[in-house]
Amino acid sequence: MRRSHPLASALLAGACALAVATAASAQSAETVRTAEVLRDAALRDNVALDYVTQVTTRFGARPAGSPAEQAAAAWSAEYLKSIGFQNVRIQEFPLVGWERGEDSAALLGHNPQSLVVAALGHSIPTPAGGVEGEVVRFTTLEALQAAPDGSLRGKIAYVDAGQLIPMQDGSGYGPLTRIRGAGPAEAARKGALAFVMRSVGSDMHRMPHTGTTRYVDGKVPLPGFALSGPDASQLSRLMDISEREGGPAPRLRLTSTARIYETRSQNVIADLPGRTRPQEVIVLGSHLDSWDLGTGAIDDAAGGAITIAAAKAIMQHGAPARTIRVILFGAEEVDQPNNTGNGGGAYLRSLSAEELANHVFTGESDFGADRVYALGLPVGAQRSDFARAAARVLYPIGVLPSADPETSGGADIGPIVQAGVPVFRLNQDGTRYFDLHHTADDTLDKIDPAQMSQNVAAWTALIWLAADSDVDFRAMRPAAPAGR
Ligand code: ZN
Ligand code: ZN
Repeated sequence: MRRSHPLASALLAGACALAVATAASAQSAETVRTAEVLRDAALRDNVALDYVTQVTTRFGARPAGSPAEQAAAAWSAEYLKSIGFQNVRIQEFPLVGWERGEDSAALLGHNPQSLVVAALGHSIPTPAGGVEGEVVRFTTLEALQAAPDGSLRGKIAYVDAGQLIPMQDGSGYGPLTRIRGAGPAEAARKGALAFVMRSVGSDMHRMPHTGTTRYVDGKVPLPGFALSGPDASQLSRLMDISEREGGPAPRLRLTSTARIYETRSQNVIADLPGRTRPQEVIVLGSHLDSWDLGTGAIDDAAGGAITIAAAKAIMQHGAPARTIRVILFGAEEVDQPNNTGNGGGAYLRSLSAEELANHVFTGESDFGADRVYALGLPVGAQRSDFARAAARVLYPIGVLPSADPETSGGADIGPIVQAGVPVFRLNQDGTRYFDLHHTADDTLDKIDPAQMSQNVAAWTALIWLAADSDVDFRAMRPAAPAGR
């Protein structure tokens, strides 16, 4: 027997729009009905596909602080003005940029082979001609950390922790990125010449996954690289053979001409001003920068497309009570060298205490464009009238209430969330996200327009409900325990 979701069936069995509205003091019956109309219209949206097509085609890859990111920001500001957004502005901040140059990896010896590799973001270059050394393999970051100091002198540290297992919620990515972040510094501490790892990805294509690694004392201490999945498997099989037969360990040559440079990045900010309480702001976040290998379609031009289209769909109907602010954040992919939060940090620092207190709700779209399946609301809001109204409006497009409250948001809105702004998450199906993420294969054709429109419908309906109401998520938070 198929069991339907208890909350959803209760809603469907018991509720007509009016009954929900009576229970939901913050959402009038009219607001709920309008959310349903906007949701259905947004399923036929074409703004999202237009924006994501244009920004990925006109500018291609948009590395943080690059001329392409700056030009994409200027163009996006004009685009937002042209479709009716107000107070469109560009907020600049300084940044240490990184440019890949050329990189390569080759197995040396009697049967030389070239391997497909990508330097990790902000990695330092190798000396001209590259570095060469015997490969020492680890299967966890902890094993590398446990190696004696100096034990990797003249060698190349290699961490193969296995492929990322695809999961709907993307869990599994976080633990593997610890290897990417901390690996080069650990390898340097043991005396290694360079650091190489299996890409953090779930695909088996010869597409390395880049991503940022961590600075120590103002720079990444070693050249760091990611091998594509098949190339990591190849190297690991060779390690197995040499261990089994007692032969010499494989030797690698790695080259990189990467460089860092002083530059600037920027946030693009655009408002749909509120009709009656314009000082109260709902921030819809995404990021405009991308890694350099692909054109950053799923990461994260799609997020900009979804949030712009949702706000535009609401604009078509007429402004809600509160202001809806779309922010295309700059330089999300890197946070170096000062960990100032880049775009998200720059935005937070631009707000007065009063403005911050008037940021009533925020969410971020940074997980591709596949369908939304669950809504996470701020702590304390799970059983609220708002949650019931949202569940009713989102159920017909396949979105259920999440059992867990949302607490983090993501890297872009993280700084304002940590400063107290209530956060939601429309959870997207991430099953195929890490096949493409940070690779040359992150291109426009990977976006399914029908699934992206479902995202726009979910954002439009949810944001309308919050924006055309006086719901106060801060007031729903459970009181902190006394005496800290
Ligand atoms: Zn992203
Ligand atoms: Zn990313």
